[in-house]
Order: sequence, then C-alpha cells, then structure tokens
Amino acid sequence: MVISSEGTEHSAEKQLNWLGMTLAEMEQVISDLGEAKYRAGQLSDWIYRKNEHDFAKMSNLSAFLRSRLNEISRVDLPGVVELYQGINDPVTKALVCFQDEELAECVLMRYPYGNSVCVSTQVGCRMACRFCASGSDGFLRDLSAGEIVGQVLLLRSLLSGEGNSRISHLVFMGMGEPLDNIEQVIRVIQIVNAPWGLGIGYRHITVSTCGLIEGIERLTELNLPLNLAISLHASDDDLRRELMPVAHKYKITDLIATAVRYSRVTGRRVTYEYGMIAGINDKTSQAEQLARLLKGSLSHVNLIPFNNWQSETAQSAQQRSSPEVVAGFAESLRKWGIEVTVRREMGADISAACGQLRRSRRRGT
Ligand code: SAH
Repeated sequence: MVISSEGTEHSAEKQLNWLGMTLAEMEQVISDLGEAKYRAGQLSDWIYRKNEHDFAKMSNLSAFLRSRLNEISRVDLPGVVELYQGINDPVTKALVCFQDEELAECVLMRYPYGNSVCVSTQVGCRMACRFCASGSDGFLRDLSAGEIVGQVLLLRSLLSGEGNSRISHLVFMGMGEPLDNIEQVIRVIQIVNAPWGLGIGYRHITVSTCGLIEGIERLTELNLPLNLAISLHASDDDLRRELMPVAHKYKITDLIATAVRYSRVTGRRVTYEYGMIAGINDKTSQAEQLARLLKGSLSHVNLIPFNNWQSETAQSAQQRSSPEVVAGFAESLRKWGIEVTVRREMGADISAACGQLRRSRRRGT
C-alpha cells in the first residue's frame, strides 16, 4: 500500500504518514485495511485532538489494529532541535527538524485571548525580500501539509500542564511564502479548522503574503473568512521593488485592488503589514501616500518595528525607525481615517523574526 498525501519519500515499511491527511483520506485507508470506517474518526481524534502519536496507547482501537498500524504507518512529528524562551515573554520559539534534517522555525505565543502559533510553510523562501532573513539563503523546499500541521501539534504539546492547552489562533507568518505553497497551505487550513482536526475557526487563521496576486485570487475563490495580511512595506512601486523583488511582477495598485476584491467577497478586513525602516519608508509623505491608496477600503495597517538581524555572513542593512517616528507615522494615517496599530513586539530577544534562528544555527553563530 502506498499512501503519501504529500508526495514525500518514506522507507519501504511504515511508508504511510497520517499527519497531513484529511478524515476522508484516513477513512479510505482504514477501509482498505478491512476495518470499519468509524475507526478513522477514532484515529484522527487521537492524532489531531489528543496529541497521542503512539498507536499502542490508542486504547479504543483493537489490539490487532494497533499492531497493524504500528507495522505499516507512523505519525511524523518534527523533531525539536532547540527551544527558545523569551525572558518575561510568553513566547516560545522552536527550531525544528524534519525527516531530511532540514530546519524550520515556529513560534507559540500565549496571549490573554488564547494561544496562537506561527508556522513556517517552506524551508527558505523564493521571494528574497531585502530585509528578511528567510530568503537570504534562497529557497530549499516546500513543506508538506503534514510538516506544517506537525509544527502546530508540536507547539501544542508544549502547553500540556498549563491552564489553557488549546491552540485557538494560527498565523502563516514563519519562514516561507504561504501562497507559493498554496495547495499544502489550503490542506493545512482544512485540517486545523475541521471539527475532527483542531477546530480553529477560520476567523482565527491568518495567511500572510508578500502579495502573490494569483494566490490571493485563489483564496477569494475559496471564500473562507480567513484573515489576509499583505506585507506591503512601501507606498510606491519604486521603493517596493527595491525592498521586495516580487514587486517587479505586481504593481501596488493591482495588489490592493485584488485585496479589495478579497475583502468584498469574504467580508473580511485586510491587514497591511508595514515594517518601519529608518529613513527609507517612514516619512510623513509616505504615510499620506499609503493613506491615499487604502482610503475607503476595509483595511487596517499594522506598523511593525523592523527587526535587525545578523549572522556571520550576512546582516540586514536596514535600521528600525525610532518609536517617535513610528508614532508620528501612525498619527498621519489616522488623520486620513486609516485604522492603524503598532505591533507589540514579542520575541525580539529570541530572534523571533522569520528565518533568523535557522540562519544563525546553520552559520553556527
Ligand atoms: N512570506 C510571507 C510571510 C512570512 S514573513 C509574507 O511576506 O508576508 C512575516 C512578516 O515578517 C512579513 O510581513 C515580513 O515582511 C516581515 N519581516 C520579515 N523580515 C522582517 C524583519 N527583519 N523585521 C520585521 N519584519 C520582518
């Protein structure tokens, strides 16, 4: 039997990995084994809801089925390479490792409103934004749905014993560009949202993109009430091209028009992420230009204090804007009636900006 929902290669025995499968796919496998379909529901309950990945402990399955599952299949959680805990910060960042030893990072944030996780969707990134550590070493590979869901389950296991061990929010803001791996990301969204999965509401799931228009259109067609975040970082095409090579392909006005359509169809407000870089994109005239672009749309601007990073071989050339400049920029946007927040910084002391941990690890710094 060869079942690989993600097209990854496995050893001849135990080639079946349950992680990343939908309930319907699990039912198919279970019926192929000659077992009653409802057993798949029990299995998904253990794997996705109870975080139990040892078949021997799945007490409501028959001893025969448990040993059969153990022979032919596995649940591939990523391995933990290192955990980073911020001081006085309710953030835990994990550097994790997959079967092929590639590394990715993911973050658990304990907020007053619930636990939120941030996951990676690729190892490296094709987008090569100038200020971002993830793309600074290029692209290695996509992560499979199982590898992405695995990050969520792993982070949830860190909550065992804490008052609230439920994950209620998920953001695709780790390493990689989610819309460049959109089929696996959609599969993950299905799994984490489903009642047989993790039961995370669509409204609590955020897809963050550097602005791949075709991907946003695909999400618009899906018409799910997901949060869409667009990493804009500039209010004119020339500057955006300098900061983000992807802007050579898409104009800001086309990107915003696509986001407005998303918002009309789904009824969801779009968030524009804007990293404040000193002397580059933080002038009052740039705030006004941004306001003119967004005026009248159901949107919200999130100003992000830029995170400097460095390793042995590379470092970000940019400096963050001062808090006063950020506050002034926010004020200019508000004057134009644009909703704006300044992102609370979590995890800056543990390099919690995408790609920074993996980079420092690989370079041995
Ligand atoms: N590829 C997706 C999601 C991953 S990045 C995207 O571009 O949206 C998550 C966010 O962190 C993006 O808004 C990205 O532009 C931002 N980011 C990247 N490097 C940063 C840095 N050094 N400081 C602050 N924000 C950064």
